Amino acid sequence: MIAPGSTIGIIGGGQLGRMMAVAASALGYKVHIFTPEEDAPASEVALRTTIAAYTDHNALKSFAAEVDVVTFEFENIPHESLELLESKKPVCPNAAALKICRNRLREKSFVNNLGIGTADFRKVTSLEELKKMARVIGFPSVLKTTEMGYDGKGQVTLRSESELDPSWGKLRTNEAILEAFVDFRMEISVIVARSANGETSAYVPVQNIHKNHILDVTIAPAPIDKVLADKAEAMAIKIAEAMGLQGLLAVEMFVTQDDKVLVNELAPRPHNSGHWTMDACVTGQFEQIIRAVCGLPLGNPERLCDAEMKNLIGDDALEWEKYMQDANAKLHLYGKKDIRPGRKMGHVNVLKPKT
Ligand code: AMP
Repeated sequence: MIAPGSTIGIIGGGQLGRMMAVAASALGYKVHIFTPEEDAPASEVALRTTIAAYTDHNALKSFAAEVDVVTFEFENIPHESLELLESKKPVCPNAAALKICRNRLREKSFVNNLGIGTADFRKVTSLEELKKMARVIGFPSVLKTTEMGYDGKGQVTLRSESELDPSWGKLRTNEAILEAFVDFRMEISVIVARSANGETSAYVPVQNIHKNHILDVTIAPAPIDKVLADKAEAMAIKIAEAMGLQGLLAVEMFVTQDDKVLVNELAPRPHNSGHWTMDACVTGQFEQIIRAVCGLPLGNPERLCDAEMKNLIGDDALEWEKYMQDANAKLHLYGKKDIRPGRKMGHVNVLKPKT
């Protein structure tokens, strides 16, 4: 067990790192952020920051020497850097879990091997292969880079044969995944925590509504029946257990028109669709990951009230006063100085009576 008073090292300095740092300090931990970014949102609320590239092995060694455990707000750190950290200090989640979640092909294969469904998919490494696989998968389909894609970046929807050539060029990669387009009824996600001794604990499934490929609103709980909710929760727990995860796992899923649940994406860390838990649950996701990573017992994820989380993207953040007019709205701003279109500046959790 890593006791309060110890130092938690967090890789990544964005809003997730910031909210993890706040939760850690509430429990009496110190936080050291590792980020390549000057003025990172997390640095404002952490005791120390190392500003260096994720490939800077000397900086990673000094960072490891100063912390008691390492965790992540960002899973795309190079594998050698991760191995270096693992050779020095406990790293949670483990490199194996991070490796699975970092690559869309590995991720979907891992999930399928557990008997859990995903969109039908094929690996694509060249334009010729794309043409061949498009005949198997059909149209519409979604072509995605296997690594480093987020918020709709690194992916393109294909509607006809004529789009294959330009789309392949646009993706600028030599490894992609071609997925069948899922005609979903709803997008949902489940966030599950798994402790050092294998205890698991899931938040209720929530509905996620995207705008311009970026999460716009999360509705907690998702308006689905209990059978579906239980199924989604059981899938998330099964995946976290199979990974041997110690930490938090967000599982994004599609609910199809005929009520199948297909897994779309995994993230082994706190997730935007779990921000509502900060104000609406006994234990929020940021406290939960700190507990899991430090080997403490997990907190109760029970929902105290319903909630709707609205992301404040770009100029939305200028309207913070409007959101504050609602006494049941909890405003969270990330301290980012520059407003840019598509940039996540904050979020607001509107609390509602429990249904
Ligand atoms: P992702 O980066 O995989 O999370 O995809 C971002 C968003 O694109 C998802 O939340 C969906 O709204 C949409 N999307 C991704 N993959 C598919 C798919 N195979 N079928 C339909 N929509 C998809």
